[in-house]
Amino acid sequence: MTAVQSEDWATAAKCRGMGDALFPEAVDQKRARSVCLGCPVRFDCLAEALDNRIEWGVWGGMTERERRQLLRQRPDVRSWRSVLVSQPSVLGGQQGAHASK
Ligand code: SF4
Repeated sequence: MTAVQSEDWATAAKCRGMGDALFPEAVDQKRARSVCLGCPVRFDCLAEALDNRIEWGVWGGMTERERRQLLRQRPDVRSWRSVLVSQPSVLGGQQGAHASK
């Protein structure tokens, strides 16, 4: 995956304009994250959620629970974007939604 090199990454989000549809509850989160497949800013999106410990919604294809688990596994990481770009395997093959940011 190639991430957009921009501070304004949300303008390139695949889910742009989808609003609250990408912030479902429980089991629907897994369905919503399919929107993230092929999103050009997935790493930027996920890094923002991880760096800022955002605890709601689907970001970068990961649910809240999945992000909490990843943060527990790597408490040493302070800036996630470089980790995601250099070690995409940390995602464990998870696919994934969101960006009315
Ligand atoms: S939630 Fe993030 S990764 Fe998923 S489509 Fe929206 S901007 Fe892309």
